[in-house]
Amino acid sequence: MSKKDNIKTIWKSIFSALKATLSEAKFNTWFKDVALVDIKKDILIIGTSSNFTKGWLEKNYSVIIDVVKDLFPEYTKVEFEIFSNDKLRDFLIKIPVKKKSSKKIQEKDYIPSLTDYSLDINTNLNVKYTFENFVVGDHNNLAFAASEAVVKHLGTKYNPLFIHGGVGLGKTHLMQATGNAIFNKNKGKKKVLYVPSEKLVSDIIKAIHDGTTDELKMDYKKLDLLLIDDIQFISKKEKTQDVLFHIFNGLYQSNKQIVFTSDKPPKSIYGVEERLKSRFEGGMIVDISAPNFETRYAILKEKMKKLKIKVPEYILNFIADNVLNNVRELEGSLNKVIAVYDITKEYPSEVQLNKILKDFIKKPQRAIKPSDILKCVCDYYGISSTDIKGESRKKDIAKSRQIAMFLIKKYTNMSYPKIAEVFNKKDHTTIMHAFEKISKGIKQDTSLINDIETITSDFFRKIL
Ligand code: ADP
Ligand code: MG
Repeated sequence: MSKKDNIKTIWKSIFSALKATLSEAKFNTWFKDVALVDIKKDILIIGTSSNFTKGWLEKNYSVIIDVVKDLFPEYTKVEFEIFSNDKLRDFLIKIPVKKKSSKKIQEKDYIPSLTDYSLDINTNLNVKYTFENFVVGDHNNLAFAASEAVVKHLGTKYNPLFIHGGVGLGKTHLMQATGNAIFNKNKGKKKVLYVPSEKLVSDIIKAIHDGTTDELKMDYKKLDLLLIDDIQFISKKEKTQDVLFHIFNGLYQSNKQIVFTSDKPPKSIYGVEERLKSRFEGGMIVDISAPNFETRYAILKEKMKKLKIKVPEYILNFIADNVLNNVRELEGSLNKVIAVYDITKEYPSEVQLNKILKDFIKKPQRAIKPSDILKCVCDYYGISSTDIKGESRKKDIAKSRQIAMFLIKKYTNMSYPKIAEVFNKKDHTTIMHAFEKISKGIKQDTSLINDIETITSDFFRKIL
């Protein structure tokens, strides 16, 4: 396929997905003279001849990048450029004029998309995230139960609720489902706000600049449920943390519910004041890990139900078997298969699936090195690599050191004496002792099990 044909094929999938995502009026207004014109490494260059359209595209970057991420995760950026009509013409896809009688056929031509953008302007919640379409498995049942309990006992049982886990595992979904459940249960009478922490940071900075932090705090104080997504982003933002601390106290003291999500547990978020960390830890902390095969399969089924399509069984099995990292990639794989079907009108064979989904299927490329493990353990516990290899007997450090020893023994084929060298120890019985101790610990100590699961899923994510 020539580069140009390739560009056109990619654009066709993105175009159809955007069409399914946006309202018809929006799509027809903004995409009639827009096309993918070039690809430079991992950047898609999208062209238009109108400055006005370019402005809209830039403002709505996330709509486009979300679709791209779903379908072609190998491209990580989109840039918009002005092109002459002559140059563009070659790449444009005509938007078919809709005839009334052909409505059904038209709908079938759409790629059903898993993303939609029905945001409620008051709560900032997306109505597509519900408990009903959230599949519960071993990896998320605690987080799910805790969220349900929050709905039942708003502000009084688990406050705050702190949900942590890796990317694409369902934290935002669960948090927003909680918000939607409260909002619907109380017919909108309870005040709910969902706020990604980047937005919180920029709102607070703006308020500080405008001298309106008191008003901002008052606004937050009126809420019954505050959902702050990806709280790790407040790291090192001292002024934001100060305002957040007051917002938190204002709500907490009047039994108003707060839910946080984060990519790591509170104790591993760097650059956050202790007083705020201890607030995060003061309620209930739950984690979400990666789903197992049965759950991956159930999630795919759920997505198909939502899209009202039937993808052959061998494809579902293939995806559930091979796409292991997270739920977002499961959805992306399914979307990609549907996009291929949309273009070719045929489902791909297993051999083709390997190719089409190669970015989602990540087999281990190299053996695990002790340094991989050390890094993840240090990141998780927030300690330095000098400490973990050093002599300190401080409880936290000694425990992380033993966990690192255990994991290195478990995931590399190094001998005890070789592992001892990693830790600058002459005597390898220390390593044996650590291995036995942690092996025993993980049979009974749930917080240890939790720590080890989070660390291992982190390093598998990093090296795969
Ligand atoms: P995170 O916030 O942890 O990065 P998201 O909540 O954005 O992850 O989830 C990524 C995608 O996977 C979303 O489209 C979400 O609806 C879907 N998803 C995640 N977990 C589940 C689940 N258990 N059941 C159904 N869909 C899920
Ligand atoms: Mg999220």
